[in-house]
Amino acid sequence: MTDTLMHTYSPQAVTFEKGEGILLWDENGKQYLDALSGIAVCGLGHAHPAISEAIADQAKTLIHTSNLYQIKHQQELADRLCEVSGMDKVFFSNSGAEANEAAIKLARLYGHQKNIDSPEIIVMEGSFHGRTLATLTATGNRKVQAGFEPLVQGFVRAPYNDIEAIRNIAQNSQNIVAILVEPVLGEGGIQIPDTDYLNGIREICNENDWLMMLDEIQTGMCRSGQWFAFQHNNIQPDVMTLAKALGNGVPIGACLAHGKAADVFQPGMHGSTYGGNPLVCRVAKTVIDTLDNSNAAEHAKTLGTYILNGFNTALKDVNGVNDIRGMGLLLAIELDNPCVELVSIALEKGLLINVTAERVIRLLPPLIMNEQQADQLINMVSEIVRSFLSK
Ligand SMILES: *Cc1c(COP(=O)(O)O)cnc(C)c1O
Repeated sequence: MTDTLMHTYSPQAVTFEKGEGILLWDENGKQYLDALSGIAVCGLGHAHPAISEAIADQAKTLIHTSNLYQIKHQQELADRLCEVSGMDKVFFSNSGAEANEAAIKLARLYGHQKNIDSPEIIVMEGSFHGRTLATLTATGNRKVQAGFEPLVQGFVRAPYNDIEAIRNIAQNSQNIVAILVEPVLGEGGIQIPDTDYLNGIREICNENDWLMMLDEIQTGMCRSGQWFAFQHNNIQPDVMTLAKALGNGVPIGACLAHGKAADVFQPGMHGSTYGGNPLVCRVAKTVIDTLDNSNAAEHAKTLGTYILNGFNTALKDVNGVNDIRGMGLLLAIELDNPCVELVSIALEKGLLINVTAERVIRLLPPLIMNEQQADQLINMVSEIVRSFLSK
C-alpha cells in the first residue's frame, strides 16, 4: 500500500477484485459472502446483469449534460420515485449527506416563509445524517462532530423513540420548523422504535405545522420490508431523503417532498452540477424496475423473519448475546460487550459483516439473497459469535 490517501478510514487488509450476486472475490481468488452490501448500497448484489447493462448502454449513449438542459431519465426517475413513495417532487444529489443538506435547506426556507427568522430542526440522539458540516451537526454522535466546531446553528436534540421529549420541546420553543429522524437508527445500531413512534411524530408535526422529514437513506429501497420504512406506519412524510441503494453503487441521492413542502424550492435556490445526470438516473430507474419486478420488499420481509428465527434458534441462550432484532433485512445481534474484532474474524472466514455502536453486529445482506444462502449466513455468523463469546 502506498501512503497517498488521507487517513480518513482504516480499511481491512483485503482488496476485492470481482463480485457476483452476494459473493465477492479478493486478489488471491478467495471467495467471500457479502452480508453488508457495501453498507446497504448494493441491494441487488454485485454485477447484477440489468444494472451492468444499463450502465454500459448509457455510458455509450450520454453520461452528462448538466441541469441547464432537460434530462429525460431524470424526469422518468422522479416519476417512478413519486409513484412508489406517494411523494410529489424530487431533487437529485450525489450522496446521502447532500440529500439531507437539501432537506435542511428546504426546512429553513419553509421557516423563513412563515416569518421565522432563526428556524430550528429537531434531530435525535444516536442518529447519523452524514459528514458535511450541517449533517454532522444534525448527527447525534459526538465522535462525528469533535474537532469540527463551530458547528452549524439551528438544531435541537431529542432522545430517540421519545414522543414526550418532542412534545416538551414543542411547548418551549417558537422556532421549530421540522423534525429530521431515521425510521430505524442505522449507524446507531439498528435501533427500532416503538411501532407508533412515527405516527406520534406525524401527529406533532401536524399540530405544530412542522415538516416531518425522514432520513430513509439506509432504510429505503425495500430493505425494511416495504419500499420505504414509513409505509409500515400508514403515514406520509413531508420530506424524505434517499441515497445508498437507490443507485446500487453509482453515486446518487434524492430529496423528495410532499404537499406544502413540494414547492418550497424555486429556481436558483439549490443545485448540483451533476446531480441527477443521465447515467445515474438511468441506473436508478433500472434499480426501481428490478426491485419492483422481483417483489423485493416482500422478499426482504420474509427473508428477514427467516434469518431472525434462525439466529434466535442458534443464539438465544448463548451467554453474552444481549438482543437479536431486525426489520426486513436490517438485522442486528447485540452483545453485552464491545466486539469490533468480529469484523476481521469474520473476514478471515470469508464473511463480510459490520459492527456499529461498538457492540452491535449489523447485517445488511443483499435483497437478492435466497434461503440457502441465508442458512449459510446464519450458520457462519452463529459460529463466529459463539466461538468469540466462549473465549
Ligand atoms: C449513510 C447514511 C447517510 C450519509 O450518506 P452518504 O452518502 O455517506 O453521504 C445519511 N443518513 C443515513 C441514515 C445513512 O445511513
